[in-house]
Amino acid sequence: MTTLSLPSYIDPAHTGPWGMFLEQLDRVAPHLGPLAEWLDTLRHPKRCLVVDVPVRMDDGRIRHFEGFRVQHNLSRGPGKGGVRFHPDVTLSEVMALSAWMTVKNAAVNLPFGGAKGGVRVDPKTLSTPELERLTRRYTSEIGTLIGPDRDIPAPDVNTNEQIMAWMMDTYSINQGSTQTGVVTGKPVSMGGSLGRRDATGRGCFVVAREALKRLGRPLTGARVAIQGFGNVGNAAARIFHDAGAKIVAIQDVAGTLHHPGGIDPHALLRFLDGDPRRLTAYPEAGVIDNADFWSTDCEILLPAALEHQITADNAPRIRAKLIVEGANGPTTPQAEDILDAAGCTVLPDVLANAGGVTVSYFEWVQNASSFFWTEKDIHDRLDRILSEAFQAIWELAAARRVNLRTATYIMACSRVLQARAQRGLYP
Ligand code: NAD
Repeated sequence: MTTLSLPSYIDPAHTGPWGMFLEQLDRVAPHLGPLAEWLDTLRHPKRCLVVDVPVRMDDGRIRHFEGFRVQHNLSRGPGKGGVRFHPDVTLSEVMALSAWMTVKNAAVNLPFGGAKGGVRVDPKTLSTPELERLTRRYTSEIGTLIGPDRDIPAPDVNTNEQIMAWMMDTYSINQGSTQTGVVTGKPVSMGGSLGRRDATGRGCFVVAREALKRLGRPLTGARVAIQGFGNVGNAAARIFHDAGAKIVAIQDVAGTLHHPGGIDPHALLRFLDGDPRRLTAYPEAGVIDNADFWSTDCEILLPAALEHQITADNAPRIRAKLIVEGANGPTTPQAEDILDAAGCTVLPDVLANAGGVTVSYFEWVQNASSFFWTEKDIHDRLDRILSEAFQAIWELAAARRVNLRTATYIMACSRVLQARAQRGLYP
């Protein structure tokens, strides 16, 4: 008898990211007034789709991968959220990531609900043709849920412009017409937006700049430590560096670089030449233990890798006064309590990394109108939307005497639940 491994559906004890999201909802519940009656809506994803993705490998074998697409809430518009290719993806993780998209889209007032997708695969083990076949079959399998007016995927960990191009092409073939608006984060040559590639890192910078002003701290010379030198981390590093901040530590899968005098992220990128494994061979900085990254002497800490990185174990060692959550879910609620008590300001993921989805929204608007904006238009509009969201959330936090995450959740959940209540139940 063949033994089949159990599908990685749900984390029944809610110990992972979904449990973390539920705990975040518990924290916001007392602040929602009569809308709290509707809060259970957010404890139940609207739809979860689990798909089998069979792929013919180059050696002729057939392998099966698990794929997911979750629409957490669609009260304010079509679903919006990225697709992650990672060997640890589970339904529970995708549920949490989709829920954070609901909150994020509402926090910056984009007309979208929250969704997310993923495939349980290590894409580094696939050839390019295998990756293309996997992407196309996954897209076809989730084709019943996605669409420019229904649910619009985008890149996330280990997915990129090329994968979005294949997704758009597959959906369009199945529909019989070119539908550029079905995904965002596409190459510019086929309807992508200028400014999308660096948008999440740029957004991290905008909210950090505004927070530093409120905290009365200078940006010039501010020391920044960054975990993850991928899409978000390296864009943030370049933008902070170009604005006069100093990147003193960079951690990625290969190890951790440290230089109190500052690391030039442009030079590091040139050195890596697309191979992250070369990081620790960079001659212009020292290498430190991964665990010592968290106690780097710096003003700003920017986690931009994966969730669950700042925990009750390492939080007491953090010396930064400002944490900018480029990654989704990097800080556990217990760690946040420790950081709050230590006077460290945490810019929550649902605000700090909203730059990507904001420019995705711009891309979707440009696709719908077939009229394209300049890069300056994109930067200016992104800066305005995120600065305004930051100011409103900062003021709400002060008025309610809560931290910035709870204030962001109050703002966002109120918008979602207001729409939910006004739409009413059916039948
Ligand atoms: P990416 O794959 O481009 O980069 C992630 C980087 O983190 C890689 O360089 C990887 O080597 C590194 N990494 C992975 N595990 C690590 C570990 N344990 N320690 C140190 N480094 C590690 O992904 P990305 O698009 O930059 O996304 C990073 C985070 O930002 C994710 O949490 C993602 O959900 C979130 N995010 C991304 C976007 C976006 O526009 N790309 C938008 C919002 C949020």
